[in-house]
Amino acid sequence: MLRSLPTSLITTWLLVSSTYLVQPCQQRDTGFRLVIPERPSFQGDIVSVSASSRHPIQQIQASFADQKINFFPDANRQHWTALVGIDMDAKPGRHVIRGTVRYQDQTSANFEESLEVLPKEFPEERVEVDEEYVTPSPENAKRVEAESKRLEALWKTSSPARLWRGAFVQPVRGKVTSPLGARRILNDKPGSRHSGVDLAASAGTLVKAANAGQVAVADELFLSGNTVVIDHGQGLYTIYAHGSKLLVKEGQSIKKGQPIARVGSTGRTTGAHMHWGCRLNGARVNALALLQPRNLDFKPAEGSVGDVTKNNPQKARPTNSSK
Ligand SMILES: [Zn+2]
Repeated sequence: MLRSLPTSLITTWLLVSSTYLVQPCQQRDTGFRLVIPERPSFQGDIVSVSASSRHPIQQIQASFADQKINFFPDANRQHWTALVGIDMDAKPGRHVIRGTVRYQDQTSANFEESLEVLPKEFPEERVEVDEEYVTPSPENAKRVEAESKRLEALWKTSSPARLWRGAFVQPVRGKVTSPLGARRILNDKPGSRHSGVDLAASAGTLVKAANAGQVAVADELFLSGNTVVIDHGQGLYTIYAHGSKLLVKEGQSIKKGQPIARVGSTGRTTGAHMHWGCRLNGARVNALALLQPRNLDFKPAEGSVGDVTKNNPQKARPTNSSK
């Protein structure tokens, strides 16, 4: 599903990168390198970026386009990973990952790398729903706006600690009936883009938390009906919509696989299914990408670098700090 892409796009991808290091305190080769996936990156993707150094790193601060991105370390603090979310509406072209690495000995260096984002083809879908969900009453329109503001504010307040661990699980078994980004025609009128993936499941099916985290929303919202939002920390949220019943409360800590709701058809739906969304540092990304372990588990010590990523050792050399 994630990789069902036109071959014409795959053949035209281009990855351009330019890392530089600035050593304000002293000139030395720390062996720092930033590793980004070799495969092409598309709108809606989650991209795992790794940083490594021979010297223990205290902290990495970085951004991608206008998002803050969060690196987390392995045990020896020499290998760090960040998940980068490419919004489904991100402008195709080069986007820059830039940041500062601070070593435990208090020296620091800047780095910069660019990531080429390719356009993805999104299907058009015609959907028939209750007219109130296409042209809401003034009262409901106000409610939609307030709920949208609540969620937009939420994406900026994720737990600083990483709460998720290891591979994610699919919340319900069932095939994808509508992909991320689908252009919706609602009752013959152009509607908003689909912000998640729809999974087929019958009413009453238990919905499981895709990973550990804290319940940020467990509420009935106008468009998404009974909705659970889980904060997995470091800017990563998963969203579960249209439930018939909520099984958790806001503020509750939950484990991976824990039942959080039952499948239903509340809110703007055509029938029972599970809408699964994902926000990463505010970007609307494909939740199914969370199920691809190689997107998340970068383990250089186990030799996975050559498997899925491009290693740019020539870029590890520090240059003069003239930039
Ligand atoms: Zn949906």
